[in-house]
Amino acid sequence: MEKVVIIGSGCAGWTAALYTARANLSPLVLTGKHPGGLLTTTSIVENFPGFPEGVDGFELMTRMQKQAERFGARASFGLVEKVDFAKRPFTLRADGETVMAETVIIATGASHKHLGVPGENLLETKGVTYCATCDGALPCFRNQPLVVVGGGDSACEEATYLTRFGSIIHLVHRRDTLRASKIMAERTLENPKIKPVWDSAVTEVLDVKQDKVTAVKLKNLKTGAESVLNCAGVFVAIGHGPNTEIFKGQIETGENGYIIPKQGTMTNVPGVFVAGDCADHVYRQAITAAGAGCAAAIDAERFLAAQNQ
Ligand SMILES: Cc1cc2nc3c(=O)[nH]c(=O)nc-3n(C[C@H](O)[C@H](O)[C@H](O)COP(=O)(O)OP(=O)(O)OC[C@H]3O[C@@H](n4cnc5c(N)ncnc54)[C@H](O)[C@@H]3O)c2cc1C
Repeated sequence: MEKVVIIGSGCAGWTAALYTARANLSPLVLTGKHPGGLLTTTSIVENFPGFPEGVDGFELMTRMQKQAERFGARASFGLVEKVDFAKRPFTLRADGETVMAETVIIATGASHKHLGVPGENLLETKGVTYCATCDGALPCFRNQPLVVVGGGDSACEEATYLTRFGSIIHLVHRRDTLRASKIMAERTLENPKIKPVWDSAVTEVLDVKQDKVTAVKLKNLKTGAESVLNCAGVFVAIGHGPNTEIFKGQIETGENGYIIPKQGTMTNVPGVFVAGDCADHVYRQAITAAGAGCAAAIDAERFLAAQNQ
């Protein structure tokens, strides 16, 4: 029987592990398919406090894991397939094994949608990115033409943010009007540095041979015309969703699937807590996920203490 099981090994998961480990609760971290979480997919992280020169995303996550393990946290490379939160202790099925837990911290993160076009995967971290706040300020994007793909609020936010860095921002959208809220759409289109490219889809990211983004191939969806648009970066903002499918029917979520914490980090099930991007569609940063992991650990520790009184 585990006192604390943490589902997910990103910033939220490992921070929750650090705090619960230091509280002598010997947490078990089920890492899922992506040990270290999303940050391991990026090169340099420049906005995590404490690293004035920036830090490699993979190295940061390795350090978080080591720090938690130093105090007794344990990692298991399990992908949780099923949970039963109807009664305590809770039951989890991970890779065919059953794990029983007195408390659970859900830290399963969120996934962004991909374009699914040639060049996208190979040029990820070499100019293709999914987060303007994270990567927009990198030197390779400064004073360069950039492409943002999408037409919703996120795409507009990303495009507006990038006007601080890029020389011009091409906003590529499949339709001839933005899906974003009226005020956001107006603000975006009034910005002289943002140039909409209507009715168009990116069909390929160039140039894999040069090992960096130099342009995108576009197709006009109304006329079928193809063209090439030079750019140094492609910011994909066509949506993202939380990894919360396995909790359906057991943990209350909003319409968009993100878990809604009740008091602090508590979910609708006492003893099950949530932290990080799976409960946050607004900030989606490493530091906010880590902060939430800390809060969930403290909440779980206090919950266990109250049960044992
Ligand atoms: C390319 C890129 C660059 C970024 N750069 C920055 C940056 O510079 N600065 C910044 O602050 N933020 C950055 N971010 C955002 C940051 O990575 C996230 O906000 C942060 O990783 C969220 O942490 P998390 O722990 O909530 O989730 P994640 O890091 O997404 O971790 C989720 C974890 O849950 C696990 N999991 C999922 N489902 C299951 C399951 N069923 N069973 C077991 N485990 C499961 C996964 O394997 C993973 O370990 C970047 C994101 C991307 C994509």
